Amino acid sequence: MTSVTVRVPAKVNLQLAVGPIRDDGYHDLVNVFHAVSIFDEIVASEGTALTVRVEGHGADQVPDGGDNLAVRAAHALATHAGRPYGASLLIRKNIPVAGGMAGGSADAAAALVACNELWGLGLSRDDLMEIAADLGSDVPFALLGGTAVGTGRGEKLTPLEVGGVFHWVFALADGGLSTPKVYRECDRMREATGMRVGWPEPSEDLLAALRDGDSVRLGKAISNDLQPAAIMLRRSLARTLEAGHEALGGIVSGSGPTCAFLARSPEHAAELAVSLTAAGVCRAAVIGDGPVPGATVGS
Ligand code: ATP
Repeated sequence: MTSVTVRVPAKVNLQLAVGPIRDDGYHDLVNVFHAVSIFDEIVASEGTALTVRVEGHGADQVPDGGDNLAVRAAHALATHAGRPYGASLLIRKNIPVAGGMAGGSADAAAALVACNELWGLGLSRDDLMEIAADLGSDVPFALLGGTAVGTGRGEKLTPLEVGGVFHWVFALADGGLSTPKVYRECDRMREATGMRVGWPEPSEDLLAALRDGDSVRLGKAISNDLQPAAIMLRRSLARTLEAGHEALGGIVSGSGPTCAFLARSPEHAAELAVSLTAAGVCRAAVIGDGPVPGATVGS
C-alpha cells in the first residue's frame, strides 16, 4: 500500500462538568463527547522519515515537526511496533485550530489509523485505543466517534445510544484559545468567588434527551463549566452566544472559542448560520450533524 487516507471528525462537548483541581494538576471531568461532521483528512504515504505538511485554514498555527500531534502519534505507533517506520503525513485541516473541537487530538487518532494501515501492522481498535490514551485525553474519543461519556481526565469512555441525528451550527472565531489557560482561568474564578465545587456527575436530563433523540430537551440540557472562563478571556463570546438565541441551545465548545448551536432541523440550522454571519459575530458559521463515526479509512 503506498498511501492511506483517513477522515476524522471534530467533537463538541455536550456536557463538560469540571471537578475540583486534583493533586496532579488535572481535574476530574464528566465529559459528554459528541462527534460532528466537520472533518480533518490525513493522507499517510510511504516515506523513509516521519514528516508532516499541513494545509487549510490555520495551518500556519500548527507545528510542522515533531510537536505535531499526528507525528507524535505515528512515533508512538512505531515505538509500539518496535520498528523505526517512516511516513509522509499530509493534514488537510477543516477543524478550527485551537478552537475547542479537539482538532489536534483528531489528527493524532487519524495518524494512528492511517499508519496502522500503511505499515500493515494489523493492530485492533482496542490496541490503538491504548496508544491513544497515552497521547492525550481527547484522542481515544476521536477513534471511537459517536457520542460517549468520558470520565477521569476524560479518557475513560462509555459509548451512549443516541436516538436520532442532531443538527448543529458552529460559529468559528478568529484565533484560538489555549486550553490550559482556560482551565487556569476557571480555577482562578472559582477561587475568587469561593465557589464550592462538587464531584462531577452526568446530567440525567442530557442522557435522556440523547437516548430519545429529543433535540428540544437536549438544547436545554447542554452545559459547559469552562464557558464562564472562556468568556472572561474572550468577552466577544457573550455576544456570539446572544446572537444565536433562536437556537434550541447554545454553548461554548470545550475550551472555546468555537460556539455550538443546536437547531431543530437542517433548514433551521441554515437560517441560524445566516443570522450568525449577518450579526458579524464569527469568522464563519458552519453547519454539521452529529453523531458521526470516529477516524475512518476512506478512498
Ligand atoms: P481541545 O479541544 O482538545 O482542548 P483545541 O481544539 O482547543 O483542543 P487544537 O486544535 O487541538 O485545540 O490545538 C491545540 C494546539 O495544539 C494548537 O495550538 C496547535 O499548535 C497544537 N497542535 C499540534 N498538532 C496539531 C494538529 N495536528 N492540529 C492542530 N493543532 C495541533
